[in-house]
Amino acid sequence: MALLANFHTHCTFCDGKDTAEDMVREAVRKGFLHLGMSSHADTWFDPDYRMDMKAYLTEIRRLREAYRDRIEILAGVEMDCLSRPEASDGAEYVIGSTHYLDLGDGRYPSVDDTVEIQDRVCREEFGGDYYRYCRAYYDLEAQVVARTKCTFIGHFDLVTRFNEEEPRFDEEDPRYLGPAKEAMRALAEYRLPFEINTGALNRGRRSVPYPAPPLLRYLHELGGEIIINSDAHQKEKLDGAFPEAIRCAIRCGFTHTNILAKDGGKPVFRQIALDRLL
Ligand SMILES: [Zn+2]
Ligand SMILES: [Zn+2]
Repeated sequence: MALLANFHTHCTFCDGKDTAEDMVREAVRKGFLHLGMSSHADTWFDPDYRMDMKAYLTEIRRLREAYRDRIEILAGVEMDCLSRPEASDGAEYVIGSTHYLDLGDGRYPSVDDTVEIQDRVCREEFGGDYYRYCRAYYDLEAQVVARTKCTFIGHFDLVTRFNEEEPRFDEEDPRYLGPAKEAMRALAEYRLPFEINTGALNRGRRSVPYPAPPLLRYLHELGGEIIINSDAHQKEKLDGAFPEAIRCAIRCGFTHTNILAKDGGKPVFRQIALDRLL
């Protein structure tokens, strides 16, 4: 049995390539039993980006009814750590993700847009010290649950987005791992799953998922939970790199993953044994 569920899915309501219905059709074709849509919620400091939440929720509700005999569809959002809390109003679940740094002066540079932006911000704001840059990222990431009231934590170590192709810091260095583990420890207190996100692995940009194995192993030591997601922006990638993520989770000590399924009208986590998914 394969993993027939994904809860981190983008469509044309945000930066995805395919419509919500195309994503649903493909999920049904693959035999999925659960699909969570998770368009990016607005960030108030980016005036160029507006997601039509009302139209989005209406469309997901329509699809839920139209496909109810074949698949359970949830209407989620991916909130940024810096989104306003009301940006998730009406959503059935929330992914809490950190995509920007807060420089404290009204500037919020992206960490995953381009390596040039990372380099410039690191040079101008952190004296060229990537370990300080990463610390600033993890200081914010440590607040992601409190700020977004999320259901699970998205791509925990997104700050490493370019570090395999364009290495800037050593991910084994205590100056990197220390702040990352500190943030993970703080977030693990909330007892919410961390997603294993195959987005970059899926697109051939990285050889490991988010979080990378040293952090996943640490999460397991902390007694943390996981949920495996593809962060798909096109229908072909809906279950991309799931087998790699499952094997990686097992190697890091996990015995089960979670899915979100409705129980009495409300989405709750349900455990699935990993060895059954290979
Ligand atoms: Zn994201
Ligand atoms: Zn995403």
